[in-house]
Amino acid sequence: MREWVTVFVGIGANLGEPCAAVLNAVQEMAGLDGVAAVRRSSLYASTPIESSGPDYVNAVVELKTSLTALELLAQLQAIESKAGRERPYRNAPRTLDLDLLLFGDSVIQSATLTVPHPRMWERAFVLLPLVEIAPEIVGATALAQVQGQTVHRIVS
Ligand code: AMP
Repeated sequence: MREWVTVFVGIGANLGEPCAAVLNAVQEMAGLDGVAAVRRSSLYASTPIESSGPDYVNAVVELKTSLTALELLAQLQAIESKAGRERPYRNAPRTLDLDLLLFGDSVIQSATLTVPHPRMWERAFVLLPLVEIAPEIVGATALAQVQGQTVHRIVS
């Protein structure tokens, strides 16, 4: 039997109805075979970084999975596609973006997957929701490094 791994997924959306898209993505993840114990942070609003368009709505989810990291990534990409995600150009505004932040304590560097997510420690819109649900993971030094970024909690 496969072991269950604790995983953190970052969610972002800034087109269409972003709050609904984020909440729907959480439901979709909870409905996946091989995924259990889904816990979500509050929703946050953030100014686009390396992207454009309206403010993003962000959240982070903790879940347990019996899937491999690549299997989970494929499922997350299927959820993005269902939400109407298109990739007209790099960092374009998006209806839904799901990032695999942490997969247990795995370090993965493949053509399609880098874990831990390479930019997660630079982004307040990841660290503020993450510290809310997993304070043991994000230290004060990490939070201090993203202090200047505009992110605020909008829905609990
Ligand atoms: P994005 O445009 O941000 O949705 O980037 C998606 C691409 O990043 C896909 O081709 C993924 O294979 C790749 N990728 C690499 N590492 C990760 C990760 N940790 N989480 C999500 N996508 C990743």
